This record gives sequence, structure tokens and C-alpha cells, in this order.
Amino acid sequence: MVYQINESDRSKIIHIDMDDTICNYSALYQHDLQFYPECQYPQSREGFFLELEPIANAINSVKHLQSLGHKIYFLTAPSYKNAHCYSEKRLWIEKFFGLEICKNLIIAENKSLVIGDYLIDDHTEGRGQNNFIGKLIHFGSEQFPNWIEITNFFNALECPTLNIIK
Ligand SMILES: [Mg+2]
Repeated sequence: MVYQINESDRSKIIHIDMDDTICNYSALYQHDLQFYPECQYPQSREGFFLELEPIANAINSVKHLQSLGHKIYFLTAPSYKNAHCYSEKRLWIEKFFGLEICKNLIIAENKSLVIGDYLIDDHTEGRGQNNFIGKLIHFGSEQFPNWIEITNFFNALECPTLNIIK
């Protein structure tokens, strides 16, 4: 007997953190500290969040997860003292993923308030990650050191449920 799972059953809600998960926050932070030592808080510089480089393979991997039918949301905590952070995060998403998905940008200090199947984040606590209802995928951990492994994880989810032969 062959069981087939339809598209809606396979589709998951995946929340993806931004800083140091898809955007290389630390690299620009360290760069600014070195080259603009007079600026104690690099993230307070206008343009900082827009200039972040993508993490290796993040853009293509996220697009791949979209192509598998998953619902992608960007769930990021704000640098709340820097008002430009809010609009620059939105512009960054548009720059790499297009306008449409900007509807799925969620800026929240407490990520446990948001419902979903998965949260991909470089931190396991501090912004409610430890109370997130769903599976936390710890980006940068031994199990998920990079976006290749995260992509492999979601690809593997596809296979066993597609055709269960008894
Ligand atoms: Mg982060």
C-alpha cells in the first residue's frame, strides 16, 4: 500500500532569524569596530543593517525551502534603539528575496509568542527561542553548522513521508 501526503500536509511554517543566521551581522560589526573605533555601537550607524552580507548559502537555501512548499517567515528581534533597523531589515529582505515575502517579516523581541513548526536561529535563548513551540534548529551548532546541513535536513523530511510502502 502506498500512502501519499498531499502538498498542504507537507507544508511547514518555518521562521528564520536574520542576524548571524542569514545576515552576517558579526562580520560587519567587527569591521566597523576596527575601522570606526569612535563609534561604540556599530549597529547604531544608519545603513548598518542594509549593508550586511548574506551568510554563505543562506539565500539559495531559503529559496529552496520555499520551492518545497514551506511557508517562510523572517523572525528577528529589533535593535530597538535604532529606528532605522526596522526599515533596513525590511529593505534587506526585499533586496535578496523580493517584495512579496516582505509581508512575512516579523520583528519581535519575544520569539516564543509566534507560532510555527520550525525556528532557525543562531541562538537557543535570549529572545524566547527556548520557549518557541515547535522545533528549534540551532544554526551554527554541531548538527546544523551551515545552510547546507539545514537544507539536507528539510530534504530528508520530504523523502520518508512521500511514499511509505507496506
Ligand atoms: Mg541571530
